Amino acid sequence: MNKTYNLGSIVVMKKAHPCGANKWEIIRIGADIKIKCLNCGRSIMLPRIEFNKKLKSIIEEEKHEEEN
Ligand SMILES: [Zn+2]
Repeated sequence: MNKTYNLGSIVVMKKAHPCGANKWEIIRIGADIKIKCLNCGRSIMLPRIEFNKKLKSIIEEEKHEEEN
């Protein structure tokens, strides 16, 4: 499975956040990946390898301009 994610991608992890939500936005990509919980706004940092292991699916790739 090809997992492509970018800054701003919305992802689902294998394990939900303790707040009950399981939707995260990628806010930083480097050696470590930083993701922010869309429900409570807390962010966590994971080494890229670990992030890839815990990543379940990508809901939305890089955000595009919304059409209004
Ligand atoms: Zn949360």
